[in-house]
Amino acid sequence: ELVRIRRALLSVSDKRGLVDFARGLADAGVELVSTGGTRSALEKAGLTVRDVSELTGFPEIMDGRVKTLHPGVHGGLLAIRDDAEHQAAMQEHGIVDIDLVAINLYPFEQTVAGGADKATIVENIDIGGPAMIRAAAKNHAYVATLTDPDDYERVLAALAEQNGSLPLALRQELAALAYARTAAYDAAVSGWFAQDLALEAPRHRAFGGHLHDVMRYGENPHQQAAFYTTGDPRPGVASATLLQGKQLSYNNINDTDAAFELVSEFDAATSAACAIIKHANPCGVAVGDNLGDAYRRALECDQTSAFGGIVAFNRQLDAQTASEIVKLFTEVIIAPDASEEARQILSAKKNLRLMITGAMADPRQAAMTVKSVSGGLLVQGRDNGHVAPEDFKVVTQRAPDARELADMAFAFQVAKHVKSNAIVYALNGATVGIGAGQMSRVDSARIAARKAVDAAEVLGLETPRTKGSVVASDAFFPFADGLLSAIEAGATAVIQPGGSMRDQDVIDAADEAGVAMVFTGMRHFRH
Ligand code: 5GP
Repeated sequence: ELVRIRRALLSVSDKRGLVDFARGLADAGVELVSTGGTRSALEKAGLTVRDVSELTGFPEIMDGRVKTLHPGVHGGLLAIRDDAEHQAAMQEHGIVDIDLVAINLYPFEQTVAGGADKATIVENIDIGGPAMIRAAAKNHAYVATLTDPDDYERVLAALAEQNGSLPLALRQELAALAYARTAAYDAAVSGWFAQDLALEAPRHRAFGGHLHDVMRYGENPHQQAAFYTTGDPRPGVASATLLQGKQLSYNNINDTDAAFELVSEFDAATSAACAIIKHANPCGVAVGDNLGDAYRRALECDQTSAFGGIVAFNRQLDAQTASEIVKLFTEVIIAPDASEEARQILSAKKNLRLMITGAMADPRQAAMTVKSVSGGLLVQGRDNGHVAPEDFKVVTQRAPDARELADMAFAFQVAKHVKSNAIVYALNGATVGIGAGQMSRVDSARIAARKAVDAAEVLGLETPRTKGSVVASDAFFPFADGLLSAIEAGATAVIQPGGSMRDQDVIDAADEAGVAMVFTGMRHFRH
């Protein structure tokens, strides 16, 4: 697992930290090899350096366009150290091992940002550097690849700690960083071409994905749009098969993803789950003994909004549920599978899309999410956070009973998939009022309660089903007002992350009303 570092190749444009790093290597008995400019800088500092042309038997040519692109370098980077044939090839051609490279690339991004002319920009596309980085990182079993001066110090420290060797874990991590760097570099080059040629978004691939589909338009008819896949193997909207209906629109894909991600939270072995989505927010979610029951109860939450919605299930769609769905105008159904009979029933609705994913996605799986802002991309890990009911912290005098506890866990799970500020009322495993996307939490609470009143009217009920329900909030209540609004609507138990300066005010208000409240300690903002 440890690799002894005997020879290092240094070739850097950004000479920051170079001399100290090279001196540290030399002190550890490492032989230094460099390209022209890097070698001059090191020799000026009094270090002994071999020129890379000694390894290649070839001078740098074409103004440096070709300096390290040679088997004398790439053989030394790529050779498998304990492969007899590889060793024989090295012997035959006089190739020597290179155990460490420190390379940073021609400053392409800075050259573009500095407003240079085209020829200068093109000359700053590094070719040999990325080739060496990729070769060394591929052979991380034997080679360490440094692409960032910020890593020099810890590599020297590791060398000292291991008496001149580097451990596999570090070489692997450096390899991951190396490929991230070459990927970003090529993305910058591709992005420059796209911008320079004024290529339209759907036609160029600067986003690093695979073009999956070009849509007729984007969020609005005057916007162009395309769907790129990232190769993430999670079952979902990117990998699903469209069994019937026309191509999905930009908004359909966005909503279908939200729907499937939401039902993925519920283990199909324990309960059937259904979510109905409009404008990326759920307008009804329910769990039940079977899909028909879950669909009916999800629909009861807000039948008005469900018109033209996206419906997701966590189990194979059955005929009975399919025949319920076709009674209402629905845009898309997504499920792990659908029975032959269910497919038959849905085929009568030519415009209804049926998408089959083959399996459910693991809600705890790590993945990245990306959002664009002007001039950049915001990247974060997906919200795979989960708090088990055992870890709910009861903060009120009254503890929730078993039914309240189950509804709380359900409601909080749903709230995670509602745009902030999110307030979700739930009763017996079904949402009965959802407030989404408001700028104040108290408004979301009021809207959710108001929607429950409307639903009661549609269902012909005397009282809204918020009476005796539980309520979930995606983030803490900053004041007691949101909670008071929920109490007024008849909620008997509350689940929220907690963590506000005024938590005590909120707890006092709950205690005064005899309401049970738990803190999860985990926030689920979603924007
Ligand atoms: P130096 O300043 O040492 O002369 O050059 C260092 C730079 O050259 C580094 O940024 C490295 O990525 C780049 N480089 C190394 N080998 C090659 C090559 O064969 N072709 C090109 N175009 N760049 C190279």
